[in-house]
Amino acid sequence: MDTMTSYPDLDTLRVRLRAYLDEELIPFEQENGFGYEDRFSKEVVRKVWKRSRELGFYGLQVPCELGGQGMGVQDLCVLKDDVAASGAILFPHVLGDWGGPARIGNLVKYASPEQIERFILPVVRGELGTCFAMTEPQSGSDAASIRTRAVRDGDDYIINGHKHYISASAFADYAITMCVTDPDKGSDGISAILIELDRPGVSLTYDYLPMTGQHVDADIVLRDVRVPRANLLGEEGQGFRTAMGRISVNRLLHCPTMTGLARQAYHLAVDYAGKRQQFGGPISRFQAIQHMLADMATSLYACTSMIMATAKMADAGQDIRKEASMCKLFVSEKCFEIADKAMQIHGNVGVTRNHPVEFIFRRLRLYRIVTGTSEIQRNTIAKAILS
Ligand SMILES: Cc1cc2nc3c(=O)[nH]c(=O)nc-3n(C[C@H](O)[C@H](O)[C@H](O)COP(=O)(O)OP(=O)(O)OC[C@H]3O[C@@H](n4cnc5c(N)ncnc54)[C@H](O)[C@@H]3O)c2cc1C
Repeated sequence: MDTMTSYPDLDTLRVRLRAYLDEELIPFEQENGFGYEDRFSKEVVRKVWKRSRELGFYGLQVPCELGGQGMGVQDLCVLKDDVAASGAILFPHVLGDWGGPARIGNLVKYASPEQIERFILPVVRGELGTCFAMTEPQSGSDAASIRTRAVRDGDDYIINGHKHYISASAFADYAITMCVTDPDKGSDGISAILIELDRPGVSLTYDYLPMTGQHVDADIVLRDVRVPRANLLGEEGQGFRTAMGRISVNRLLHCPTMTGLARQAYHLAVDYAGKRQQFGGPISRFQAIQHMLADMATSLYACTSMIMATAKMADAGQDIRKEASMCKLFVSEKCFEIADKAMQIHGNVGVTRNHPVEFIFRRLRLYRIVTGTSEIQRNTIAKAILS
């Protein structure tokens, strides 16, 4: 097992991370002519995982005894905002958001010693990729209605089902898969099973592309897939609660990625407004432009403040169910507005395909759907208020 125990102070780490992004990752992307919508091979993303690991960024949030550095939620939020704001195309790979340690979350608590060796530690080291598979074609917000069925057969399960729109499955070696083991028990009959994606009967299908044009998500089709019982994570019937236990922090941790992207769009807009000349001077002298910039900066300040307040609660071990939903709701809607304003300020440049502002606009739109739609966040908040 790796023996890294702690990380330097946050400011030092931010400087090192910035240096890696500006001096190594972005030049690597430019030299190779990478674009937002390229299909990246496992080999390329693994190179980023490994390098990030070598430099001490990959797996920071994982407990020290599992080869991570025990980073708290507040510090992680700062770094996540930094990588998203950097302009690097492969930024989600640097801290392990796509296939890496971020996918595991609190699931390590339920892993057996053998599962830790085989499944968890290789992800922390950047050697294996993973993904989290709950959604199915007929089961989205109503997650407890999944139908993927795991039936016991001696020391194995035989699994049949279809997982839909699974992030990072394109880079993953195994999927943390929610399966029905007892159909009579509702959500208490759902179990989490680790399924290696090279098992006979597993196939990935890429029949759609999200509006970002990024090749990250796929469906996982399971046809009579035989998996040993040793791959059951935790107890039978514990899967849904395990997944729900992970969801609040997960929702919160999406937020700094949104603010980072929105911040990038905001800085581009400030810069463009100062340079673009119309009617004999820069457009930044128009009050209409100034007010948009003022609203963008105000929204960013509000978003960052609420993220950090909730992250502080999470680090103190408090229940953040309501606050995480408030953050996910507010930040996804406000950051999308920021991108929209950045696009407006950029005029025709901003609506040009694959300009950073245009890409960020498309990317931020997705966040009102993923990890629980805005409507589901409002339901969670209202439930907490009225209970
Ligand atoms: C890019 C991307 C990546 C994803 N990654 C993953 C992943 O890694 N793993 C995974 O398991 N899933 C993943 N998903 C699936 C995602 O979690 C679901 O899309 C999401 O939960 C919504 O489900 P749905 O799309 O089926 O919408 P539906 O649940 O069908 O909702 C449709 C509309 O009805 C509304 N609605 C539904 N129920 C209610 C209600 N009770 N009250 C009010 N309004 C309601 C919704 O808000 C929405 O507006 C991903 C999706 C996308 C687009």
